[in-house]
Amino acid sequence: MNTEVSENSTVASKALFRDVEFDNILKCVHCGLCLDSCPTYRELADEKDSPRGRLYLMRGLWEGELELKPQVIEPLNRCIDCRACESACPSGVPFGELLEKTRGIILENKSQSLKERLSRALLLKGLFRSTALMIAASRLLKLYSALGLPKLITKTFVGKLLPKSFVFQQHLLPDCSGESFKQKHADKNFLPLQAHESQKVDSQIQQTNLKVGMFTGCIMDVSEKAIHNSTLTLLRHIGCEVVIPGNQVCCGALHVHSGDRKTAREFAVKNLAAFEPRNLDATITNAAGCGAQLKEYNHLFAEGTAEAQKNWRGFENNIIDVLEFLSRYAEKLKKLPFREEEDTVLYDAPCHLMHAQKVDENPRKLLSSLPGVNLVTLTESNWCCGSGGIYNLVQPDLSNAVLERKIESVRQTLSANPGASSIVTGNPGCLYQIRAGLRSNDIDLRILHPAVYMMERLKINGSP
Ligand code: SF4
Ligand code: SF4
Repeated sequence: MNTEVSENSTVASKALFRDVEFDNILKCVHCGLCLDSCPTYRELADEKDSPRGRLYLMRGLWEGELELKPQVIEPLNRCIDCRACESACPSGVPFGELLEKTRGIILENKSQSLKERLSRALLLKGLFRSTALMIAASRLLKLYSALGLPKLITKTFVGKLLPKSFVFQQHLLPDCSGESFKQKHADKNFLPLQAHESQKVDSQIQQTNLKVGMFTGCIMDVSEKAIHNSTLTLLRHIGCEVVIPGNQVCCGALHVHSGDRKTAREFAVKNLAAFEPRNLDATITNAAGCGAQLKEYNHLFAEGTAEAQKNWRGFENNIIDVLEFLSRYAEKLKKLPFREEEDTVLYDAPCHLMHAQKVDENPRKLLSSLPGVNLVTLTESNWCCGSGGIYNLVQPDLSNAVLERKIESVRQTLSANPGASSIVTGNPGCLYQIRAGLRSNDIDLRILHPAVYMMERLKINGSP
């Protein structure tokens, strides 16, 4: 991120926070118990790059003692927003909310380079707003992969001629489908499978009488379609009726993390309008980052505004991660014909599932309960992988250092469990990042979403 600050950005910062609810920062008692959980502090060993240090900086801005200068902005930009510090904090400091509000103020009050303005306009405000553009980008990337260009760059001398970060980005590319899952299934009602074609397979499963919606995201909507197909099929197999609202949009997480709260507000209002009128019993997400964002839409709207009066709590309380949801129906899952062959699989907890949504135990219990499955949690499963939305693109060096720790934890866990077949993790950003780390370190281990893994263990056809 560019940190150049214009003359007028040195206006008293206190005024910039006037309409922002920020009192929760006072909960911080400076105990430092969060320091050891912070990946950037571990890498840089500098208090400014720790949660406590960043809270000092934010409080200084809020109280008007600091100005929007590079030495204040840069440590805030280096935060991955992984929220591990929230899990460690005994005082309940809502670090992510405070950081995201501060980044919003910084974005609105600092000058941006032409490159940053262009990339925001083309990507965050352009591409992510349009399903048609997403499909076009997905087709281009699919073609790019089909031509073998990523392999040419990563596996031959060509990579040596190119910048390291560009070579690494080839490993990060998603497996694009070239089509939109949301468009393909827009507004269809998928009935519980026992109600028609799978009757012969799982006739003991009773319909749950639940009608749920699926949130499909933006990048996920046009890539890794196996994750959405598996989610949909598992939900139907436990007896849910599933609908995929065709007018849903991106959750806005990447925007919020980078300070663009205005675009995120626009998306929040659209998603509320897409899901609320359908009277769903639950809205299912299979990307931890999207789930965390959807559950915190109320943070985007200042008290007293017309938008803040909308039913955000009702919407947010309906959001649930697919693994957490499935874990509530363990009895129904037990009746499905899962394979029984023994398999050891490693588990990595996505930060936005564990630290932001506070969901950890149930997904692990669910996966461990599958017949024959020996689930082994990575030694540092609770540590960030360095993905952080687009953090791996805007802070590549620090992101790589954090990823190296994650890969080291994979190596350690693998050496104790040499027969492990795969790693599972419930967030696409983590999946891409760890997969890139495995590929660039020549570690022959596949990584997949837990829903895909569960479908692989089922002895029935999974296509919707
Ligand atoms: S954020 Fe929490 S854990 Fe960290 S210094 Fe403040 S009170 Fe202590
Ligand atoms: S969100 Fe993560 S990177 Fe940022 S201060 Fe907290 S622990 Fe450190």
